[in-house]
Amino acid sequence: MTYQEFKSNIESLKGLPNLDFGILGNSTFGEPIYYCHYGEYSGNQIIIEAAIHAREYLSSLVVVEQARYLSDTSPTIEGGIYFVLCSNPDGVRLVLDGITEAYCPKLQEILLAINNGNTDFGLWKANGLGVDLNVNFDALWGGGSQNVFCVAPGNFVGYYPNSEKEVLTLIQFTELVKPALTISYHTKGEVIYYGFEVLNEDNLQRDFDIGLQLSQVTGYELIKTIASTGGYSDWVSQKLQVPAYTIEVGNPNLPHPLTEENLADAFEKNKDVPITALNAINAITAT
Ligand SMILES: [Zn+2]
Repeated sequence: MTYQEFKSNIESLKGLPNLDFGILGNSTFGEPIYYCHYGEYSGNQIIIEAAIHAREYLSSLVVVEQARYLSDTSPTIEGGIYFVLCSNPDGVRLVLDGITEAYCPKLQEILLAINNGNTDFGLWKANGLGVDLNVNFDALWGGGSQNVFCVAPGNFVGYYPNSEKEVLTLIQFTELVKPALTISYHTKGEVIYYGFEVLNEDNLQRDFDIGLQLSQVTGYELIKTIASTGGYSDWVSQKLQVPAYTIEVGNPNLPHPLTEENLADAFEKNKDVPITALNAINAITAT
């Protein structure tokens, strides 16, 4: 799959029945960060984002199909579901296309140097500047055991919290929507993480209870997160105090990057996650 094919797949949602489609902002290198919305704009809203880690672009393919499935089946829901269809387009473009003349010669040299001289960008996690967006959020920033402090294909926390354009785009959007729950899609492992360490006991129990429902519908194991820092889910947990899950799709035994060959299986297991999550949070806030 090329980046153009990846992008066209996202853009194929535009104009589908019952879906609103638009652009949240642009990446550092100017790529659109697309979103879509299904349902009502009143009531509880949830946000589902994907591919904040570049090599995990399979997660974007999954959420695109989740949105398409809602458009096709048109279930009646209370509230609404936002999808941020790819949070890190610059990184995904590097994974899928590598270095091309889309980058000026100096930038080509810089990207190659950040990738340790390797022309294969298939394991790249970061954005276009070598910052790992899912450790850049202001939530115990810089305290992770895997964190690194220089530009890299993955795990560089950035020069300061929330420094990256893509992170700021997600933060501004999330603060605007005020979601009742969020889900971040990653690969791989077929597990669901919940429970950032700053949560109090009541919120931890709440997140566990909803997580169990997501576990039942996917068949994925629910795991309490340990030592996660600087991620979108971490930031949502800390800042908004609402349930925030990180779902890892794809067989753990497959090597990164997982490709479109794994889409049918991953989608089948995750197709009911959006509705299940919204219904679960509706049930709690109604009581
Ligand atoms: Zn990831």
